[in-house]
Amino acid sequence: MRNYDIPALRKQDIAHHLPAQANYKLIQDLGGSRIITRAEGSTIWDGEGHAILDGMAGLWCVDVGYGREELAKVAYEQMLELPYYNSFFRTATVPAVELATKIAGLLGGELQHVFFNSSGSESNDTVFRLVRHYWTLKGKPERQVFISRRNAYHGSTVAGASLGGMAFMHAQGGLPIPGIEHVMQPYQFGEGFGEDAEAFGQRAADEIEARILSVGPDKVAAFIGEPVQGAGGVIIPPPGYWARVEAICRKYGILLVSDEVITGFGRLGKWFGFQRFGYTPDIVSMAKGLSSGYLPISATGVSHEIVETLRASNDDFVHGYTYSGHPVAAAVALRNLEIIEREKLVDRVAGDIGPHFARALKSLDDHPLVGETRSCGLLGAVEIVSAKGTNQRFTGKEGAAGPVVRDACIAGGLMVRAIRDTIVMCPPFVITHDEVDRMIAIIRAALDESAAVLAKMHAP
Ligand code: PMP
Repeated sequence: MRNYDIPALRKQDIAHHLPAQANYKLIQDLGGSRIITRAEGSTIWDGEGHAILDGMAGLWCVDVGYGREELAKVAYEQMLELPYYNSFFRTATVPAVELATKIAGLLGGELQHVFFNSSGSESNDTVFRLVRHYWTLKGKPERQVFISRRNAYHGSTVAGASLGGMAFMHAQGGLPIPGIEHVMQPYQFGEGFGEDAEAFGQRAADEIEARILSVGPDKVAAFIGEPVQGAGGVIIPPPGYWARVEAICRKYGILLVSDEVITGFGRLGKWFGFQRFGYTPDIVSMAKGLSSGYLPISATGVSHEIVETLRASNDDFVHGYTYSGHPVAAAVALRNLEIIEREKLVDRVAGDIGPHFARALKSLDDHPLVGETRSCGLLGAVEIVSAKGTNQRFTGKEGAAGPVVRDACIAGGLMVRAIRDTIVMCPPFVITHDEVDRMIAIIRAALDESAAVLAKMHAP
């Protein structure tokens, strides 16, 4: 264990480091970021020596847990053999080809081709350019419009943030770019409270069809969606929603894109979310769990028909990144997938730790501040409300209570995230039963502790 001068590092953090998605004034006022120094299994440690149970698997990514020596060894060996080579010069590397083959096998069906990038955002940039180029090659250049959902998250690049439906992101930098339509999300607790679940799902899907018709079916290129919205607040669609979405896409000949950046590689108890919900996409975005976050790598799975169209054009697809198929990242990803298979972690999520997590989370339903708990595989959410049995929020608008409860969780030794007034969880696949129980106990204590603070907030 190395020793660091944490106070000095926190000062340097303020002076020089700009963290991602952060309020720089707040970080300055707090005396700098919390410096995370090491991790093992499902626990992270900060520079002050606090052990924190990682209820977020890093940022929805460290699926196999921390401290996997074999991933470090694979990276070391690959760096010595070939640390880098590109795929621009009609060249490829062994790990990139092997990883593409492995992913194609997991995707199955027509999804037999893989384009590599370094992040989820970049994967969705690839989707954006590929889809529009595909329709041009098909002789339908007017098919340019993407349909997405409000409160979707598809990344932070210009295309990613535009495809996403986060209004607060659009407000910075004049987004979205043209040609992207946002429709309602299947968020029943927020937008269909008390409604029959299937009817609500149908209503949410029908809005996609209505928008296709208003835009003009011959102008729509693709629909993009996360099987379960992650960064939007772990929004699990009602039964029947995805079947209806798929049917609408097929009816109008629109490509269906599944953004599996969070849900891919076992998070929902199947290798992919589309397998969990039973639909067949034309394109799949993957990242995070692909390498369990050990190195940055993402993949865009593409159907055979799309690739055959590119081949028929006999032209370059003029898109790609210096680090597309990076051999070290690919080698680590390949070994990470081997670990998931060897340790049967997808089955563990489906049949053991996922159901345990669901039961433990449900036990919070009786808490006076809890409006709803929900989970799918190892994604979970707790809705905080001001009046039990309703979806009303403290102070009357969203986002007041979430950070209070989150901060109490972190102080209690659990890293979770607050998305407005929803506490979300995404633990590593290797989290133990005892650790899950501890997570839930910390959340309950945090809710108890927050009740008094929130009650004052509620007073007129
Ligand atoms: N798509 C989804 C569904 C995501 O959850 C994320 C990241 N949370 C992204 C895309 C963007 O990935 P990245 O941050 O690696 O660019």
